[in-house]
Amino acid sequence: MCGIVGYIGNRQAAPILLEGLSKLEYRGYDSAGIAVYNGERIDMVKSKGRLKVLSELTHDGEKLPGTVGIGHTRWATHGSPSDKNAHPHFNKEGSIVVVHNGIIENYLKLKKKLQKKGYEFVSDTDTEVIAHLLDYYYTGNPLQAITKIMHRMEGSYALGIIFKAHPDQLFAVRKDSPLIVGHTDGGNIIASDVPAVLKHTREVYFIENEEIVQMTENTMEFFNVDEEPIEKESVRIEWDVNAAEKGGYEHFMLKEMYEQPKAITDTFSPRVKDGRIVIDELNMSDEEIKAVKKIMIVACGSAYHTGVTSKYVFEGLARIPVEVDLASEFRYRNPILEEGTMVIVISQSGETADTLAALRESKKQGARVLGIVNVVGSSIAREADNVMYTWAGPEIAVATTKAYSAHLIALYLLAMKFAYTKGCIDDSDLADMLEDLKALPAQVEMLLNNKERIQKFANRYLAAKDIFFIGRGIDYAISLEGSLKLKEVSYIHSEAYAAGELKHGTISLVEEGTLVVSVLTQKDLFKKMISNMVEVQTRGAFVMAVTMEGNTEAERAADYVIYIPETNKYFTNSLAIIPLQLLGYYVAVGRGCDVDKPRNLAKSVTVE
Ligand code: GLU
Repeated sequence: MCGIVGYIGNRQAAPILLEGLSKLEYRGYDSAGIAVYNGERIDMVKSKGRLKVLSELTHDGEKLPGTVGIGHTRWATHGSPSDKNAHPHFNKEGSIVVVHNGIIENYLKLKKKLQKKGYEFVSDTDTEVIAHLLDYYYTGNPLQAITKIMHRMEGSYALGIIFKAHPDQLFAVRKDSPLIVGHTDGGNIIASDVPAVLKHTREVYFIENEEIVQMTENTMEFFNVDEEPIEKESVRIEWDVNAAEKGGYEHFMLKEMYEQPKAITDTFSPRVKDGRIVIDELNMSDEEIKAVKKIMIVACGSAYHTGVTSKYVFEGLARIPVEVDLASEFRYRNPILEEGTMVIVISQSGETADTLAALRESKKQGARVLGIVNVVGSSIAREADNVMYTWAGPEIAVATTKAYSAHLIALYLLAMKFAYTKGCIDDSDLADMLEDLKALPAQVEMLLNNKERIQKFANRYLAAKDIFFIGRGIDYAISLEGSLKLKEVSYIHSEAYAAGELKHGTISLVEEGTLVVSVLTQKDLFKKMISNMVEVQTRGAFVMAVTMEGNTEAERAADYVIYIPETNKYFTNSLAIIPLQLLGYYVAVGRGCDVDKPRNLAKSVTVE
């Protein structure tokens, strides 16, 4: 996780590094640091805590003069968040300095070897090994030292490196952690992600696995691990710069919730033409679609929840069996991918380490892999056989909202496409569904505009100990996401249960006043849900129901009801999630939590 930046040019590096890091703070924020070459030596300031501590310590960068530097905002994996473990890390003489995103899996072995050779370690990180290893292999040629350590290191890394003996050069390398580079006005910049460079350039190069970039103020050269020069093409980023700014909202999370109508429209409208679903990027003939016997959906976190939703949608609409798995489980369970199995991997960032590994495992077994990702040019986008982008734009808040909603739309479109191709739905079904899909953005907006009502309700539960979410069928999938949203930002313990499952154990936790959020959008399951709601209500629970307009019967078993507008039964997730996102958000705000950067989390989970 974490964010790295680096700059070399004719301007002062430190303010550029700090500004870049501020755009990457969503990736990690337990400590931060920068190192700048000042003409004589490499100076460094680093500190535990948020980036603003570093800005204060360096007087917004003024204390570190110099025109070449690297910076880091950390999400600790090895060694607690502390001053000494913060990056950058030096070799003993202070002549080589490194920032690192990722994990060096064989660091203990390397550390022992280096210790035997007399190297002393001052931090608990895996990263420090890199600085000493570079020192060990450096004999005057930085590129050579870098390729040598690449042969020795296992794991994932994106690195920014400065050698004091080569102060007119900045180096960067990547393996399984994201890294981009771009030309700026009077210099060159490296970063973990696009928002950090947007202010300077829209033309970026995506560094591929095991590629190295060597930069000076005016030049940029790329090499492979054999030190051979390679050619790369730049990619133009079309994002609006303001998309990565808060734009008057109190938090990115709220802003991004409000961007959901647009994210939904932007995801479906380019793929609906003359009443048909056209997903060119799928690159599958009708025969190939008909030949799919099983779909395996693999993802993590909220993306996994969109997979759970789409299991119901695919199976219901297209009658294709779907298995949904957590990427961290899938990759190590020796999965069976029989002929005719299509694998769909879902990831907002397109860099999720476990999902990327699942993709590779699937390809190794010969399965066709479709990636559904939000970040253009990301690793999953590049490695999947086919990629379907969700056009949600940059998502900064750690808790996903708009990317989640856009993923759902992409999955609905796919399921509809498969269902229509297989003849499970006809022209008139398709036309009705497309009408409902087109209505979603305005319906989402209407629900968002009702936010004050949820805010008032949320304020009553700021001190809650446990909150449960229950639902059946597709509503179970919504409950999973609603529960995750609430707990990740508010730190209130919460669990989601398939409503019929609660009484097999967890109901013993329900006591007087426990909030149980019940989602019941599926007509055929209303009655069953009402029974489950009565069961918890009888045991003292306060029941909040999220149901369809007109289903006033829910009030019989609920203390508080939120109605969502009518839509196709497979699309209800896109509407029911809005009040649940708002609930999580307002409980977190009311409790004074750092909504956009919840403790211990980071947005793009590039480590396993
Ligand atoms: N593994 C490194 C550490 O714990 C880097 C973590 C990161 O990517 O932020 O310091």
